[in-house]
Amino acid sequence: MGAGKRKILIIEDEPHIVLGLEDALRFEGFDVVSRSNGRTGVDAAKSERPDCILLDLMLPDMNGYQVCETIRRSDPAVPIVMLTARSQEADKIRGLDSGADDYVTKPFSVGELVARIRALFRRLNRPSEVHSFQIGSATVHVSAHLLEKDGSSEKLSFYEVELLKLLYERQGQPVKREEILERIWGVEANPTNRSIDNFVVKLRKKLEATPNQPEHILTVYGYGYKLVP
Ligand code: CA
Repeated sequence: MGAGKRKILIIEDEPHIVLGLEDALRFEGFDVVSRSNGRTGVDAAKSERPDCILLDLMLPDMNGYQVCETIRRSDPAVPIVMLTARSQEADKIRGLDSGADDYVTKPFSVGELVARIRALFRRLNRPSEVHSFQIGSATVHVSAHLLEKDGSSEKLSFYEVELLKLLYERQGQPVKREEILERIWGVEANPTNRSIDNFVVKLRKKLEATPNQPEHILTVYGYGYKLVP
């Protein structure tokens, strides 16, 4: 990740939101590019090679889920934060299912979003001491964002790798939900605890032989999660 400026791509059609975000992010020293519809956003995700994408859910030509899925096909790792005007849990789940890593609900505080992005890049800047590790019959390759299992491999998002790494480093000790939120998403209250659970459900589908009877990522009720490698 060289010495260059971090680049953020904003895909959003509401000019006042774009302007507010551009100002705040440039003030923080980031490079910012913006696109106002899904089609040009998908193109920019390829040509601009952003380090992070802020993606509006309601775009004039495509919805954010479609945009997210399309970007994910060519770039499994880039962190994608969805900007949604909806607060229904179902929409958030769908957002995470389509490959988003995080979401903020409008109206959001620009300051909070910027803080979250800063936290994200701090983690990206920190070199990882572990290059790969074993969970059961699966191998997680940290910088390649790959999960290899039974001769096949599956892409992992940045946040999925971070969560597995955090749990792995604790060597079977349970990790509190609040700590996961703070360490992985850099926030206290968002996404909600429920959405961490949905995130884990998705991750189990990639990792576990029987996702609804997990052997590796275990729920510690009323507390959080632990990993049994
Ligand atoms: Ca919109």
